[in-house]
Amino acid sequence: MTSVHELIRGAAEREAATRATGGDERSDPATPAHRRPIILRATGLTSCDTELADDPWSIDRAPGYGPGASSADGIPNDAPRQGPLPRSYTDATDEELTARIVAAKAALGDRVRILGHFYQRDEVVQHADFVGDSFMLAQAAKQHPEAEAFVFCGVHFMAETADILSGPEQAVILPNLAAGCSMADMATITQVEACWEELTAALGPVEDGELQPVIPVTYMNSSADIKAFCGRNGGIVCTSSNARTVLEWAFARGQRVVFFPDQHLGRNTAQAMGITEAEMPLWRPHLALGGNTVEQLQDARVILWNGFCSVHKRFTVAQIDQARAEFPGVRVIVHPECPAAVVNAADGAGSTEYIRKEIEAAAPGSVIAVGTEINLVNRLQQQRPDLTIFCLDPVVCPCSTMYRIHPAYLAWTLESLLAGETPNQIRVPEAVAADSRVALERMLAARP
Ligand code: SF4
Repeated sequence: MTSVHELIRGAAEREAATRATGGDERSDPATPAHRRPIILRATGLTSCDTELADDPWSIDRAPGYGPGASSADGIPNDAPRQGPLPRSYTDATDEELTARIVAAKAALGDRVRILGHFYQRDEVVQHADFVGDSFMLAQAAKQHPEAEAFVFCGVHFMAETADILSGPEQAVILPNLAAGCSMADMATITQVEACWEELTAALGPVEDGELQPVIPVTYMNSSADIKAFCGRNGGIVCTSSNARTVLEWAFARGQRVVFFPDQHLGRNTAQAMGITEAEMPLWRPHLALGGNTVEQLQDARVILWNGFCSVHKRFTVAQIDQARAEFPGVRVIVHPECPAAVVNAADGAGSTEYIRKEIEAAAPGSVIAVGTEINLVNRLQQQRPDLTIFCLDPVVCPCSTMYRIHPAYLAWTLESLLAGETPNQIRVPEAVAADSRVALERMLAARP
């Protein structure tokens, strides 16, 4: 079997040969970028699912989240659906789409800002006015009151957060409504409210002078409904950068925490605070008491919702072992949405911003294996050609929902705006937005 090392060397030789002939295999005009399989730059291997090479319009029509998603990642029945795009977009070449996007963006000027998530594909991110994680982009929306509309090239919950933080007259648009987040969909408001009722009954009422029995904490990667639920119930939102500070805030007010929806971020953060596995029962929403006994819940410090990210759960300790065997001295950094065993085996773990800063500060010649989404890893590698950076997973698996925003949808959105229409506007009802803001403001005020 070919080793990662050999593959990396082969890819480097192919790139050198391509550069020497003035070509670029990734921009072969015969195959439009949005119809080409993603190639892992470091290894030259193809994607986790050949469907990534299929016509994107058929992926968008299919039920479920498409390539890379796990069997548990079904799209909820009430999820919004994208209508078909006109042929003038689906049949356009890469060059035509790029030219149309550039022209529409120029004509719209400062009226419209494009927000691009770190995990977004390059063909889309190149047009973004701001690139960042979901909260950075929502903050960018808040800081630009002059814009009439934000085109959010990310996923649904991110557009919701931008709508919550932006002005009432500003529109937030998701270019493809099929761009949801499977992790966010793993905690619905109905399930969370049922869980809360059971927890309240099992843990009893608050006695005078006692801390609240349980504080709800939700990761930014959740629907506006769940953020609002936390706001209404003395809870708070966290990001992958401030999860520990937020848990400390919660423990100053409550005896325990229920953490939605990513069990891995919750477990990794709690573990780093000295909380044991036995004090972190998993809440399975389809089972009574989440599959726990009353005693287990009473003894709990952090009750973890059974959610996960399909992209980050693919990383394994075996991949870290292989990277270390082939690159002695390699530094392994992973995102805290990875399973705890992976985080424990890595040299460092942290948010996307942490990963970016680690790479920015790395000494020339360093070898870094990264456990996060492939589009970001590839971009970081392009920014630091003096380093060897590769994705821990030798099989390319992008965020399959983010991948649904391809240039044709961006072109369609911008040209619609230019024609005076506002397609795919994401509107969070004001009551939900108000409660969500409470939870977000608590997060901004929480101090380490
Ligand atoms: S990377 Fe994971 S958590 Fe982030 S949007 Fe994609 S599925 Fe959701």
